[in-house]
Amino acid sequence: MGKKNTVYEDEAEKQEKRRQKQQARMERHLVVCPHCGEKVLDHMTKCPKCGGVLVPRGYRPMDEKTAKRLKTIGWAVSIAVAAVIVILIFVYGK
Ligand SMILES: [Zn+2]
Repeated sequence: MGKKNTVYEDEAEKQEKRRQKQQARMERHLVVCPHCGEKVLDHMTKCPKCGGVLVPRGYRPMDEKTAKRLKTIGWAVSIAVAAVIVILIFVYGK
């Protein structure tokens, strides 16, 4: 009997350790909502408690260089599409 109990205790201890590990992992991803003080996960964009807007951790506002490049790509695509439409009108328009 005594031996069995020890096994169960070991198992319980193992589970407790696992639980603590999981909790520690969770807590690393917890941030405090600036609106209501509730703990929320850091990838959330909205507080589940008060609905306040949150900035997820790791979120960086787009830097100017990237924004400029995206704008250029956007323009290039627009021009290409316009060119294709013009060509199609020329080919099929007659
Ligand atoms: Zn909140």
